[in-house]
Amino acid sequence: MNTTISSELMAEAVGLIPGGVNSPVRAFGGVGGTPRFMARGQGAWMWDVDGNRYLDCVGSWGPLILGHAYPAVVKAAQAAVADGSSFGAPTEAEVSFAREIVEWVPSVEMVRLVNSGTEAVLSAIRLARGFTGRDKLVKFEGCYHGHVDALLASAGSGLATFGLPSSPGVTKAAAADTLLVPYNDAAAVEKVFAEYGSEIAAVIVEPVAGNMGTVLPEPGFLETLRDLCTRSGAMLILDEVMTGFRVAAGGAQALLGITPDITTMGKIIGGGFPLAAYGGRRDVMNCVSPAGPVYQAGTLSGNPVAVAAGRAQLAAMKAHPDAYAFLDSAGERAEAALLSSARAAGVPVTVNRCGSMLTCFFTNQPVTDFASAKQSDTARYATFFHAMLDRGVYLPPSQFEAFFLSLAHGDEEMSFFEAACKSSMAALTREAS
Ligand code: PLP
Repeated sequence: MNTTISSELMAEAVGLIPGGVNSPVRAFGGVGGTPRFMARGQGAWMWDVDGNRYLDCVGSWGPLILGHAYPAVVKAAQAAVADGSSFGAPTEAEVSFAREIVEWVPSVEMVRLVNSGTEAVLSAIRLARGFTGRDKLVKFEGCYHGHVDALLASAGSGLATFGLPSSPGVTKAAAADTLLVPYNDAAAVEKVFAEYGSEIAAVIVEPVAGNMGTVLPEPGFLETLRDLCTRSGAMLILDEVMTGFRVAAGGAQALLGITPDITTMGKIIGGGFPLAAYGGRRDVMNCVSPAGPVYQAGTLSGNPVAVAAGRAQLAAMKAHPDAYAFLDSAGERAEAALLSSARAAGVPVTVNRCGSMLTCFFTNQPVTDFASAKQSDTARYATFFHAMLDRGVYLPPSQFEAFFLSLAHGDEEMSFFEAACKSSMAALTREAS
């Protein structure tokens, strides 16, 4: 595969943009090699600047549930921008969009639009703290909620649950109010609540985790969080930036039957544009300025072009007779292909999947939390990633991310995936021997 132009662009980019990229995982740090600079996309496919074609199993990290350049989304965005790209004043489309979101996600009685998932999460946390008058947050190891200071915290050693900064530039104070607990460990959360219950403003969780690779909640885990929050007066924040509109029409909360106090949304809701949202109980949301005292604002919030694209994407999802069954069957085919080709090649794998989001871990052990995710053979993932890339399949360039499929991943695309998977897994054993 000729990647001359990508290589030249990367060589120039590293002198102009930190690491050559505008978001770290794009740099291929987790798998090595040269990142591919993309030129265009159509449906489930995308083409790089050297003219190579890839089956896209990343979908811009989740937003592209209809595939690239879906005609109705393109048309809506073009029409909106032709009428003016931003007003800094309310528009009718924002009201319609809010009504639609409230219909899709019943726990959301009111909603505020923002520009990124990070912004949605930091606003939701400020709101939870403002509403409860408490400071502490409970967060799970391996969950990612954007680059919010308080959430760039990692667990201390031993039994310490207080967070330590996981990035230079995050103050000890910002991380110290974050209590770190292993994902799926209900007993550990109960212990934290027994000690700090009256100081906890919120528990924030990915209801199906995607940021340590896909990890599903064990039965009873989310129910325990709901119960502990209700009893102590803390807010349960379900971070559905990734799972919202992806794993079911009403998000993971609908699929799993959990009602949060606050939900954060992003990715799919913006139709591929920078748009995210947080919403929830009316009494809680009415604390947000200017209705209430918790300050939050944004020059481009509710941007007309992003709103038009997001509305068009959700409308197309709604109009599809069986969108979620289709996505699930694409996910099922990908899972089956990974498992059967790994078995044939004698490569131990564990595949975790929720509908059209899935991860292939290179371990024969179950993956239920960050510690078990880290047992995966990441060097093997990197080799598999490159074998797939060489065969024209673009997977996430990191073991600790999810594959995302779309409504454009039909029979032809999944057959292409199956064939690439079979020969890539076989290549792994050839390499090892
Ligand atoms: N929350 C979750 C669950 C995410 O997966 C992400 C990003 O991947 C974010 C929040 C942050 O969103 P953004 O990258 O739009 O700031």
